[in-house]
This record gives sequence, C-alpha cells and structure tokens, in this order.
Amino acid sequence: MAKKGHKYIFVIGGVMSGVGKGIVTASIGNILQAHGYTVNLVKVDPYLNVDAGTMNPTEHGETFVLRSGLETDQDMGNYERFLNRDLPEENYVTSGMVYRNVIERERNLEYDGNCVEAIPHIRNEIVERFEKAASINGSEISVIEIGGTVGDYQNIMFIEAARVMKAHNPDDVLTIMVSYLPIPSKVGEMKTKPTQNAIRQLNSYGVQPDFVIGRSEEIIDERRKGKIAEQCNVRAEHVISAPDIESIYDVPLNFERDNLSGLILSALKLKKKNKAADLKDWKSFVKKVHHPKKEVHIAVVGKYFDTGDFVLSDAYISVIEAIKFSAFSLGAKPTLTWISSHDFENGKRKISELKKYDGVIVPGGFGKTGIAGKLKAIKYIRENKIPYFGLCYGMQLAVVEYAINVLGLKDAATREMNKDATHLVIDIMEEQKAKLKNKEYGGTMRLGEYPAQLKKGTIARAAYGKEVVEERHRHRYEVNPEYVEQLEDVGLVFSGTSPDKRLMEIIELPKAEHPFFLGTQFHPELQARPLAPSPLFTEFVQACLKKEK
Ligand code: GLN
Repeated sequence: MAKKGHKYIFVIGGVMSGVGKGIVTASIGNILQAHGYTVNLVKVDPYLNVDAGTMNPTEHGETFVLRSGLETDQDMGNYERFLNRDLPEENYVTSGMVYRNVIERERNLEYDGNCVEAIPHIRNEIVERFEKAASINGSEISVIEIGGTVGDYQNIMFIEAARVMKAHNPDDVLTIMVSYLPIPSKVGEMKTKPTQNAIRQLNSYGVQPDFVIGRSEEIIDERRKGKIAEQCNVRAEHVISAPDIESIYDVPLNFERDNLSGLILSALKLKKKNKAADLKDWKSFVKKVHHPKKEVHIAVVGKYFDTGDFVLSDAYISVIEAIKFSAFSLGAKPTLTWISSHDFENGKRKISELKKYDGVIVPGGFGKTGIAGKLKAIKYIRENKIPYFGLCYGMQLAVVEYAINVLGLKDAATREMNKDATHLVIDIMEEQKAKLKNKEYGGTMRLGEYPAQLKKGTIARAAYGKEVVEERHRHRYEVNPEYVEQLEDVGLVFSGTSPDKRLMEIIELPKAEHPFFLGTQFHPELQARPLAPSPLFTEFVQACLKKEK
C-alpha cells in the first residue's frame, strides 16, 4: 500500500509530441524533492512492446537499462539524472505489460468467469500498477508521465486511469498538461488555439487539467495566459510559461523562479517542508554548464547515425550526458563529432582525421555492419596514442583489434561479426546460447547491475578509488575466457572482472603504453549523474584535456 494521502500528479501532453514532457516531469520531480519530499517518477509508454529492449535506437532512441535490468525508455534516464537516484522497475509501465498481464490472468481464470474488458480490467490493472509503484520506495508524491499526446488512441486507457483515480480521491490527484504554443512565422504572434483545443479534447475524457505548462519559443505573456485560463477553466497563475532555453538543466531553476513547486504543493494541500528549496548543488552544477573555462573535442564512432541529427542525440543520450557531466566537472565544455564507422569503410573519411580529436569513444552496438570501420578506427587510435574509451561493443571490438594486430590472430573476431572465424575472442555467453536458439530475444540479455572487482594499480581502480563497483549491463557476448591468458601475455590488462573472475568487465593498456585506452563490458554512462559524474568518464575526459594541451 502507498502511504496514506500519497499524491499523484499526471503529466499529459497536448498539441504535439517532442516538446519536452519528459524534462518537465523530471524537473517537477527535482524541485519537489528539493522541498524535502520523496518523489516517485513514473513513465508510461503506450506502445504494445512489453519493454523498450526490442526497438531499434533509430526508431525510439536509446534503451535505458534500470539497475534491476529492465529495458526502458530514455526518459527514465532523465528521471534518474534529475533525481540523482536509482528508480525501481515498477516505475516503468507499457501497454504491452498491462495487456500481457490481464490476458495471462484471464487464462488463469482469475476473473471469476467474467467477461474481461478494456474497462474496467485494463484500466484497473493500470491503476494497480501506479499504486504499486507509489508503495515501493516510501514516496509521498508520484509524478506520472503519460507518453504520447491527447487525442492518440493508444494512451486513452492511461488517461482513463488518471480520471478514475481523481474521481475516487479528488484531493490527491493533480493533472498537468504540457502543451505547445506555436508562433507561425507568417503570423508572427503566439497562438493559444491549439492548446485550447487540446484541453477540450482532454475534457472530453472527463479530465480537467489543474495546470498548463506552455512550451514555446518565447515567454507566454499575461494576456495569453489569461486567455487560456478563461477559455479552459484553469487558474491564470496555474498557466506556466516554459520557453526554449539553452540547457535542459536550467528547467528546474526556471520553474522554481516561477514558484511552480509552491503552487503544486498548495494545490495538493501539502506544506513546503524546507523553507526554501535545497537546490544548492544543482545551482553550482548549472553554473559550470554555463561557464566552462576550456573546451574538449571528442569523436564518437558509431553506426546509429544514419537518420539525421534529431535521432542521433536520442540514440546515445546517456553517453552524451555522461561526457557532459564529467567535462563540466572539470571546467570544460565538450564538443562532440559524430562519425559513422561506414565512412571509414567506403573511403568517405580518412582514418587520419581521428588525429584531430582529443579523444574517441566507440559506444555500444549490435550486429555485423559498421564493424570493419570501427576496428580500423581503434587500431589507429591505439597506435597513435589518442585517448580511447570503448563502451560494451566498443570494449569487445578493442579486444578483437588487439587480438588481430598485437597477438597476431589474423582472423580473430566476435561471433556477432563472423561465427565461422577460427579465433572467436569474443563469444556468446554460455547462458545465452539456448535463448538465441529459441529466438527468445526480449529481455533476455545479461541485463542490469552486476559487481566488478578491480585490480590494484590499474587506471580503473584509481578512477573509482575502490575495489568493487556495481555497474549496469546489456550484452549477450563476452570475452572468451580461453584467450584471456594469451592476451595478457601480449600486454592487455583485464583490470575488472566478475568476482568469480570468469567474466572480463574492464580492459585497459598500462599508462606507460598509452595515455588512456580503456573499455568496459558494462555501460558506465547509465549511472552518470549531473551531481555524480561517472569516474571512468571523468578519467577519460581528463586524458583528453591533457592531449589538448
Ligand atoms: N552486441 C554486443 C553484445 O551483445 C554488445 C552490446 C552492447 O554494446 N550493448 O554483447
């Protein structure tokens, strides 16, 4: 059971998607937490996928892995970054999970012979999930973001759940619409009509928003706020302006300047626990974002870049943010260059171009394509002593490159690129074999948090400053234990392993050999936070800054 009087805030989008509902939700969580409340952030994805693990990153952006191993939407990453803590898997809900559960229960005769219907059964299953999430971490307030936009067919059941929860407990439920106010270039003025229509559409489901957060290029003036208030039964001071800004990390501070937390708390009949919001650390982080003293240029060599800039930043959002947090903490502003590894294969780019950058990252990835280009890049980076950081696939490919060019195993490979190679230095994990054979793809990788034991005297150990660390994983393949000794003999250091020493978690080259050459089987970017940057990213950026000098 959730705490008595637990409050629910639903965040629902109007007019169009892509206006930053996730950041609004994360920011509301941030400021309420700064007022001393334990806040629970929940993301609803209305699609029928059971989780976000089976979707191509160019379709839906990065898959964010929770500590528990659940593969979720990238918004969960924003939530954790803005709250500076881990979230449990109950805080992620998809239509796929809801329908699957209801259908399984029906098959198990759990509905007493009744006809099973969308209403009440699907809706009630959703309500139960929200209540369950609210009960998990002793939180006092849940902020629940319903994906999609009002008017979508897919999210109706979730809005219906919000309605019925408010009908039962009117004082405990609040609805916030995040809407968009366009300024058409030919007209030259901000228009409120699309927002009015979106609110009416929401009204038609029986839901009245208590707040409207208006996203726009510019600040919404009092006249337009008044118009929305009058036309849509919202209090004028509850129409909040959220204009475009430079950094998403400014959003909580801007909301706080407009006293949004105060307005929300009083609408929920809650007191401010602290006299003022405790945003000291957040403010000093944001100050670093805006006042860097130097620059660092990092290239990311990957392959999910083909659909243009919009998708690109989405597919690697945690990597990008992790670089930023470490760079900002060192007083530097990072500039990222995206290089499709295919360009090194078809001659579109010269490999020597990599010299220009202070450091190079090869992030996670899947499949055969683009591998040749990545291997070529890693060889160049290693030989020319450019700082290198390999994340998951980037680590595995660094091992393959080392096996080919240093150990001299000419056809060394990962099974993923060539299953017939003689030397499979990266191979499928034992427990994964049956899963792949039976085509059990969804949610079956090695997922979530596992410990790694760090070797004394290594870069990894020095960076973390402790012997055992826990990081998040998402992979099916591993360093083949049969090749570990041979690789060590020619200089590769396995600086992190599973506690039973079977699984290789981190590789590196000694500092005397290379200024920074390190790869992780896990994804350190998933735990990087504005207020707690990832130690390995910080070490990498530091090496990049030295090269810059
Ligand atoms: N494709 C590799 C594996 O499954 C790497 C996965 C990743 O980079 N996340 O092991």
